[in-house]
Amino acid sequence: MSNTHTLADNNVAPESNINHVPAANDNIRHDWSIQEINDLFAMPFNDLLFKAQTIHRQHFDPNQVQVSTLLSIKTGACPEDCKYCPQSARYDTGLEKERLLEIEKVIERAKEAKAAGSTRFCMGAAWRNPKDRDMPYVTNMVKEVKKLGLETCMTLGMLTRDQALSLKQAGLDYYNHNLDTSPEYYSDIITTRTYQDRLDTLDNVRAAGMNVCSGGIVGMGETATDRSGLLRQLANLPHHPESVPINMLVKVKGTPLDSVEDLEPFEFIRTIAIARILMPKSYVRLSAGRESMNEQIQALCFMAGANSIFYGCKLLTTSNPETHEDVQLFRKLGINSEKTRSFSDEAYEQVLQEEIQQQETNDLFVDATKTSMTKASEKAAAVSNSN
Ligand code: SF4
Repeated sequence: MSNTHTLADNNVAPESNINHVPAANDNIRHDWSIQEINDLFAMPFNDLLFKAQTIHRQHFDPNQVQVSTLLSIKTGACPEDCKYCPQSARYDTGLEKERLLEIEKVIERAKEAKAAGSTRFCMGAAWRNPKDRDMPYVTNMVKEVKKLGLETCMTLGMLTRDQALSLKQAGLDYYNHNLDTSPEYYSDIITTRTYQDRLDTLDNVRAAGMNVCSGGIVGMGETATDRSGLLRQLANLPHHPESVPINMLVKVKGTPLDSVEDLEPFEFIRTIAIARILMPKSYVRLSAGRESMNEQIQALCFMAGANSIFYGCKLLTTSNPETHEDVQLFRKLGINSEKTRSFSDEAYEQVLQEEIQQQETNDLFVDATKTSMTKASEKAAAVSNSN
């Protein structure tokens, strides 16, 4: 069977879709106040989602979700002290450290990601910052992944302007560097680099002409105003990040935040909605923490304006929903419908045929049309994923 199962098609130009509500004006602002954002958080849930979805439709196809794959190219032993992160050398989380992956392995994983439907391949290294001696290795990696026809993204820690330029020259499309939380809460989470260090790296990435991927993490024990503060920082940057990952903290045993109180899922969905309202043209990524969300919560996040996910069973070091679960959810929601349908129908038909043949072989007098639909559905995803 050909490898046609594909989750995403982010090559669809948003402006070309007939489902869009025409934009009255761009309404792009960079001067949000905390009070305005707090007021959005205080809106009735339905009103907030309606507002976010209306803005979403002005800029994007509401039924298309961009899909990226993330690969850890160097795992653990990081000198930084980010309190949420199992890769910090300071916390005993039992994480297996891995040296820099060889380029061949990275290429292999990138090919798999492309075959599974990802359009962007993100590579992350647990570094405070890349050393100059690492640069030829990472720039070569960018060139090789680009040759596969994938968009490239990297997250390597802080960057100097020269390093940003080298990555740009190698063809890197996106650089990820999150602000994590509000400036006020930041020192409770990280002490080994400053908020300004992060802003400087974003500046260097922009100056080099790359797209910026920057967001944060909620559920780290921050206040509601801190969530507003994070979104305000992102929305008031001179250019909005093209990609805004909103992560729900994944609590990893051994990290200082392993027993922090859970964030109410509605608060998470509100955060997504407000990111969409504040940064209307950015891709808002439903990022880490998705595994702990049921389908209904994820669906509400898409309704709130999330239009990007990571696809694959691992997000650097924490797990992510199995890919076939994503295919099933997309199919139920009609997301990326053309691509998802071609995957699902083909796989489903194959499984159905196999079951029919097996029943005939067993000489059972069974009406093939009554073959278990549920069983066939369950197997369909497995078949497609194995190709
Ligand atoms: S988040 Fe990044 S910089 Fe911080 S400890 Fe983890 S790998 Fe290191």
